[in-house]
Amino acid sequence: MTALAPAWCGAVAVGVVLAVAGVAAQPASAPLPEASAPTAAPVSRAAPAGTPPVEADVPLDLQQRLDALVRLAEDHLDQATQALTSLPVPGTPAGRRALALARAEADARGVDAAQAERSRRLAVEAARAVRAKLAAADDLYLQALRFQRERGYIANDKALAALAAYEAWCKSEGVYALCAWRPRWRLQQLLADVADEQHAPGQARVHAQAALELAVAADDPWRRAYSESALAELAGAQGDRASAAARLARARALTEPLDDPRMSARLLQMEAELALKAGEYDRAQQALLQALQAGRRSGSTRLQVLVLANLSDAALRAGRPRDAMQAITQGLPLARERQMRSAERTLMNNAVIARVALGQGDVARREFDLLQAAWSADGDTGAQVTSMREYGDALAAVGDVRGAIEIHHRERELARRLAEANRQAALAELRTRYDRDAQERKALLLERDNALKTAQLDNQGLWQTLWALGAGVLVLTIALMLVLLRRVRETNRALEHSRARLRVQSERDALTGLANRRHVQAALHAGSLAQDFRGALMMIDIDHFKHINDGYGHAAGDAVLVEVARRIASVTRGDDIVARWGGEEFLILAPDLASGDADALAQRVLTAVGGATIGLPDGRSMRVTVSIGHGVFPLLPHRVSVAPEQAVNLADMALYTAKSQGRNRAVGIAQVEADSPAALRAVEADFERAWVDGRVQLRVDVGPPG
Ligand code: GH3
Ligand code: MG
Ligand code: MG
Repeated sequence: MTALAPAWCGAVAVGVVLAVAGVAAQPASAPLPEASAPTAAPVSRAAPAGTPPVEADVPLDLQQRLDALVRLAEDHLDQATQALTSLPVPGTPAGRRALALARAEADARGVDAAQAERSRRLAVEAARAVRAKLAAADDLYLQALRFQRERGYIANDKALAALAAYEAWCKSEGVYALCAWRPRWRLQQLLADVADEQHAPGQARVHAQAALELAVAADDPWRRAYSESALAELAGAQGDRASAAARLARARALTEPLDDPRMSARLLQMEAELALKAGEYDRAQQALLQALQAGRRSGSTRLQVLVLANLSDAALRAGRPRDAMQAITQGLPLARERQMRSAERTLMNNAVIARVALGQGDVARREFDLLQAAWSADGDTGAQVTSMREYGDALAAVGDVRGAIEIHHRERELARRLAEANRQAALAELRTRYDRDAQERKALLLERDNALKTAQLDNQGLWQTLWALGAGVLVLTIALMLVLLRRVRETNRALEHSRARLRVQSERDALTGLANRRHVQAALHAGSLAQDFRGALMMIDIDHFKHINDGYGHAAGDAVLVEVARRIASVTRGDDIVARWGGEEFLILAPDLASGDADALAQRVLTAVGGATIGLPDGRSMRVTVSIGHGVFPLLPHRVSVAPEQAVNLADMALYTAKSQGRNRAVGIAQVEADSPAALRAVEADFERAWVDGRVQLRVDVGPPG
């Protein structure tokens, strides 16, 4: 009896294999369980947390639809391609990459190599619009898919390289557990299949487990179920039936809500396989009948044929030829209709065995000969040998010893030829494999060379970026320094300004706003003036000020002080210093004033103050007069040098004279007969006497009459 492997399928399908040792595998595309009908409304979920923004940018319903169409492509490439082509082009680069990748994934498993290549290029281009690193990873991924069917060992290398490339890309994106999880899941599953084919079950388990963990993290029930069933098969193959059964049960629980007949059929067939291994035919038959129903529900004839073939095989193994014939009668027309030659032959072969068991020896013999002729025409000696062995065993089982021996001889002869052919084929295969490996190595070297060049270019780009950044930083620093410099200057200016204001404030009289005594003292002692005072000095004192205070109040006195100050200042020039010398005394210091001009200034002051009444705060007004004493130093005619204090003293004496002569007048020292400092000091000591003696000549200007 010849069994078909369970519709062992899916995104990473293993070809249908004639499950007989020593017989070459016959690759054929196996049907793929659909996650859900591609037209069914997708379950609405948010993109799982841990997906990088670039991938989360693809709408989830679009991604699920693409997933379903890629699965459909395994069995119905035309239908899937048509659906993929008619999908509207997504608006985002990430969406366009997802669509192009799905198309390429579908085509990668097809037989049209040129089409697969075209799709791969388009997908890589679309990915490049997202990120260059992603494009490199997608490229390797699609190559791995492409090589899977015929050159497992290359697919294996490509898949490992693709995983590394995705890892590199993911690292550059940040920390995202689910970065590129879809292709990574499929790559792990692919690696598991390749390892299984290469009889490395440990390795296969590691990869299938990694795939399962990704599916769990992404909370994707279909992929979880797929990975669970892959692990179940591996466990079953290792004889760990309990673990296999537990995994299958988990897978079924996961797929139940998905309503995915293909996946159900796949799981049921695996369950049947497990049951058969345990010798539980009834349970196996039950599972296979359910699988058949699922196949019918899925609408896939292919799936039904495969299940029926397995059903017939199970029945034969359990010694139920009638059951087997029933399955074969249903399966054969379908297999012929779908032109599934390998399945058709399997069913025919099983029919021969069943008929022998049912006592229909003649019909069995005819069908056996037909089958042998067909295989012989195909040059499929392996199948011929297997079939002969099974037929011979069946004949022996029903007691046809003669027939059995004859078939046995034929089988031995064929087996010898087969062994020779296999040896030759193995040699040829070794040679081509060597050639392919050499080519592949060359391609890999080229790829590495290219990668190196790209890295060099990347480095150059990095340096340029660094330089640009450096220049940017420099410009920014200079700009910042300029701004800071301006700030410093502004601050300094403000500081200077406020210092000047402070200086002015400290040298101003608070009531009148005139310079205060300190300021005048400083001016009197500035530079050479400290030893040799030059300029006009005028002392002004308000007459009878005490009376104003006493009669009108202190506030009125203040108001008079302010107004008198204003009037004095109004008749002086900008260069003159007008100061409040004490209580109601003022001083004018005029550096460049000739004697006559000093008299005129004194007259102006008298008129300005006494010429008009002053308004008081209480509304009343009054007339105020001042007395003035002044002189222009050095004094004429001898021009003896004087110290500032001396000059002030002499002016004060003139003022005193003005007071004593009746107030409201100015007394100027016109000439002093003193040709030495000592003579001048003598005048100072008794000014009045010197005046009476005629050593001092005074000029008197009287203020406006009251
Ligand atoms: P004379 O004509 O002789 O100068 O008489 P006088 O009253 O003006 O002279 P005296 O120096 O005796 O009086 C000056 C008065 O000025 C004494 C003081 O109370 C008053 N005084 C000084 N400073 C101020 C001030 O800032 N405000 C007011 N309201 N009065 C002041
Ligand atoms: Mg006074
Ligand atoms: Mg006075």
